[in-house]
Amino acid sequence: MQLDDCIFCKIARGEIPSSKVYEDDDVLAFRDINPKAPVHFLIIPKQHIESLAAVRPEDAALLGKMIGLVPQLARQEGCVNGFRTVINTGRDGGQEVPHLHIHVLGGPQPWKH
Ligand code: AMP
Ligand code: ZN
Repeated sequence: MQLDDCIFCKIARGEIPSSKVYEDDDVLAFRDINPKAPVHFLIIPKQHIESLAAVRPEDAALLGKMIGLVPQLARQEGCVNGFRTVINTGRDGGQEVPHLHIHVLGGPQPWKH
């Protein structure tokens, strides 16, 4: 199920353009519009799940698929020395877009060397 006025549901439906990294029937990955690292993309389920707090046992396979895609897509996007994964959840968790998403951040970070 999708929501009419959810920005990530709209991206999943192609109503708002995105810079796609990966797509299949269940999952979409696209580059973050305001990247916090040289590589920064988001992995979302196409169905509307509000957050990690709203995940049900029957979503386990979908979540497994999303996590399983991380290393492949991170490599494809140019992460050679690792990456960071972040899932912000709810207001106190700093979640701004209420549609579940995994942040994948990586790439060379000169200030850390
Ligand atoms: P969060 O604070 O975890 O909810 O993160 C939401 C992320 O979505 C932020 O990093 C935004 O830059 C990103 N974002 C918001 N709108 C778009 C968009 N239209 N296309 C790509 N990324 C977006
Ligand atoms: Zn949504």
